[in-house]
Amino acid sequence: MNKIADVKSESIAAARRSPYFAEEHELLRTQVRRFVETEIKPKAQTWEEQGYVPRDVLRRMGSLGFFGIRYPARYGGSEMDTLATVVLAEELGRSTFSGVAITALVHTDMASVHVFNAGSEAQKDKWMPRIVSGEVITAVAVTEPDAGSDVKGIRTVARCDGDFYVLDGTKIFITNGVYGDLYCVAAKTDRAGAPSKSITMFLVEKGTPGFTVSRALDKHGWRSSDTAELHFDGCRIPAENRLGEEGRGFYAIMKNFQNERTVIGAMAMGEAQAAIELTLDQVRTRKAFGAPLWQKEAIRQRLAMLAAKVEAGRQLVYHAAWLDTQRVDATREVSMVKAYCGELVNEVMYTCLQFHGGMGFMRESTIERMARDARVQTIGGGATEVMLEEVAKRL
Ligand SMILES: Cc1cc2nc3c(=O)[nH]c(=O)nc-3n(C[C@H](O)[C@H](O)[C@H](O)COP(=O)(O)OP(=O)(O)OC[C@H]3O[C@@H](n4cnc5c(N)ncnc54)[C@H](O)[C@@H]3O)c2cc1C
Repeated sequence: MNKIADVKSESIAAARRSPYFAEEHELLRTQVRRFVETEIKPKAQTWEEQGYVPRDVLRRMGSLGFFGIRYPARYGGSEMDTLATVVLAEELGRSTFSGVAITALVHTDMASVHVFNAGSEAQKDKWMPRIVSGEVITAVAVTEPDAGSDVKGIRTVARCDGDFYVLDGTKIFITNGVYGDLYCVAAKTDRAGAPSKSITMFLVEKGTPGFTVSRALDKHGWRSSDTAELHFDGCRIPAENRLGEEGRGFYAIMKNFQNERTVIGAMAMGEAQAAIELTLDQVRTRKAFGAPLWQKEAIRQRLAMLAAKVEAGRQLVYHAAWLDTQRVDATREVSMVKAYCGELVNEVMYTCLQFHGGMGFMRESTIERMARDARVQTIGGGATEVMLEEVAKRL
């Protein structure tokens, strides 16, 4: 009971630090933090070892409303805003198990958004309730072996054949790709046309003939998140599985990137806060040269500066999310979020691991896992360099 009361008072303090949050965000923060403490942290090491988050855990997250935060009530959602999504991502990031966080966040904020934003009423009625409940887990398949940062370079093709499309190509690094159920797949419908007008998104169900999960990928971090290479070989899907109009896929991907990058930034700032807290505990108790490490000014000041940077990063995330709630184009701020938070979380992990000494290098320490997990934050969802180009264009 005391533990829950502590969690609540902490969450209220955290929410009060920003003017952007209302009571409903605070309640959500409390609820997610409680779930993280009781249902993720005690069990997630096993999921790291097995390489995926069990489906019953994802169903439980769905039943608690975590998968429908921004979706309409008619699909089981709670119709909240971008700031609520930020709360979910930040708190899942604080779990110290980012593989679990990304499993949920790809489903909620990177893949299912394609169904919601571009899907027909029939597609949404069919899929959204099951997406929100966690019965159906989604993946988004854009990246290919020869096209990552440069989305226009994708080579997967979708050829129209009467009432069907036939997909051929390969996708790589697809989160939820091994155990997911429904894939939002980018393919070229016009090989000769302008690249920005020739990509279309499609829904492909697991088990469709011609679609295979060719391999599960073994990763440096995010080990509880499953990641796949996918192959499409004459994969026939009904024309009604097209998401939106032909040729609108590139714009849909770019639009959804804004949300994705805000979410990844929020997750990174949750991870960074948790790492600083862990390290504060470590340096306050670990003694060297006759006193706790905290007595060393060099250590105190490095942690104080990191805490200041993380606070700045969080507020930038909140501001970018708030701009989105105001329907203001926040491409500049969101690109800053992705670049700054991705780099910062790595700086934080490097220093926090350093202050754990040799134990920080051991697989059994939390900070070791967190440092591995953070590495991808400067790459996935828009590499730092690509994000800085977006910022530079808008300076
Ligand atoms: C764990 C993981 C999960 C992922 N999940 C998904 C998913 O679910 N769905 C999906 O579609 N994709 C996913 N991705 C793919 C991810 O978005 C890409 O890896 C990312 O966009 C970078 O593309 P790339 O790997 O092809 O690198 P490249 O595009 O080849 O770039 C390599 C490096 O070159 C540099 N670079 C690139 N462009 C520029 C530039 N313009 N200027 C200067 N430097 C540049 C950057 O440092 C970059 O890291 C995932 C990746 C990982 C690692």
